[in-house]
Amino acid sequence: MADGVSIALLTCDLRVHDNPGLHAAAREGARVVPLFVLDDAVRAAGFVPPNRAAFLADCLADLDRSLRDRGGSLLVLRGDAVAQTVRLAKALGGAQVHVAEGVSGFAQHREQRLLAALGQQLTVHQAVSTTVAPGLLLPTGRDHYAVFGAYHRRWLLAERRKPLPAPRKLTLPQLPFPGLDMTAVRARLAKAGRPAPGLMAGGETAGRQRLRAWLGSGAVDDYPRLQDDLNADGTSRLSPYLHFGCLSATEAAHRATREGSPGADAFLRQLAWRDFHHQLLAARPDCARSDYRTRQDHWRVDPAELDAWRTGRTGYPLVDAGMRQLLHEGWMHNRARMVTASFLSKTLYLDWRSGAEHFLRHLVDGDVANNQLNWQWVAGTGTDTRPNRVLNPLRQAERFDPQGDYVRRWVPELAQLPGAAVHRPWQLPAADRAGLDYPQPLVALDESLARFRRARGR
Ligand code: FAD
Repeated sequence: MADGVSIALLTCDLRVHDNPGLHAAAREGARVVPLFVLDDAVRAAGFVPPNRAAFLADCLADLDRSLRDRGGSLLVLRGDAVAQTVRLAKALGGAQVHVAEGVSGFAQHREQRLLAALGQQLTVHQAVSTTVAPGLLLPTGRDHYAVFGAYHRRWLLAERRKPLPAPRKLTLPQLPFPGLDMTAVRARLAKAGRPAPGLMAGGETAGRQRLRAWLGSGAVDDYPRLQDDLNADGTSRLSPYLHFGCLSATEAAHRATREGSPGADAFLRQLAWRDFHHQLLAARPDCARSDYRTRQDHWRVDPAELDAWRTGRTGYPLVDAGMRQLLHEGWMHNRARMVTASFLSKTLYLDWRSGAEHFLRHLVDGDVANNQLNWQWVAGTGTDTRPNRVLNPLRQAERFDPQGDYVRRWVPELAQLPGAAVHRPWQLPAADRAGLDYPQPLVALDESLARFRRARGR
């Protein structure tokens, strides 16, 4: 190690609490450079669309404030993350570099390049963005779990590291070159475009407040009852904070385990789903694009139907409500994600990739592991043990939005329709229907179901 200087290259861990890389860097180096690189390749790959760019700007500004409170600050550079990190390490006389293990193909490639350039100077920290490192839990003879139930049973018993405290004091070395200041960072990220009007605020401070409110105030107790209730909005909404790592999944799991209630257990199970998808993508990075299990699908191509789905104009109010929530908030309730994804991939029988791409463009928590593999789960090309199940949007509406309030909130054209009638506007008397600026159903459900069954050879 050169003269006690360490670099914490922050990627999916934009936080000071429970950050193994930052913690190790602070412990070993008398001086520490917390580094973030606005990576041109990530941007060029379309991975920083407006909602995530705006959220990221909040995360970086908040992280910089927290680091300054501790005597340090965040160095933000632009360019290729590997080249910039290596350049900095060299300029600092051969600094030790710490980075969190990633699971996507992109992150794995970045790690390999860092390793090739830095060798012993690089430390890769495991279980930073997940609670259990991908590859730690393995079924006999396989390199990943393909069945959630079996994974979950092992996951519950897995040993986890204890959350680490935030470093109390940080000292920066003399920096060999300047980085972007936060105004420039925000301006650069704003170029991605205008974010959704109802976007959540990003950052570790906001994430920790949300976690405290979720676990500390009893909200989690209602989770088993309200998890699927679309109108209640009774889930944690922690996903963007977990995605950007401004909240540690390990710390969230630790606190939920301490809580030890049925609600906290149900929440833990969802964190296990997150780890499950991460271990799967780490083993099979190609599944970001390829079917995990091919069903020999010959997907239909219909740009007009795809466009109706994207804009929330399918004529099925529950589907349209979910799609409009996505456009307005950059976030969608899990049950609505399942219904809208099933509608695209099974009812319309359009390629799951086109839906996943739209979700990734808008979701503030848009995440290759969770998004692509949940899409595959719903489309039946993934790990669902019942790959041909189809979610009927009308039955889903009866169960999960029985009074129609979720639809009325997101589809204002239908706001005047009372109760559950809002789910079937085509049943209104012709005179009432004429005044509605709302489309007729795009497809008949029974016909599309028959088409899907034929396609899957059932
Ligand atoms: P909660 O219900 O409070 O759950 C707590 C946490 O557990 C979440 O924040 C999330 O990190 C994790 N979690 C919950 N459900 C799942 C799940 N099914 N798979 C993996 N992790 C889960 N989640 C993302 O984080 N990013 C995505 O890009 C994403 N895309 C999805 C696409 C589809 C088609 C579907 C069906 C689901 C997708 N999910 C995705 C999973 C899930 O919908 C969201 O994690 C959840 O809605 C986030 O809301 P919450 O934080 O209130 O979740």
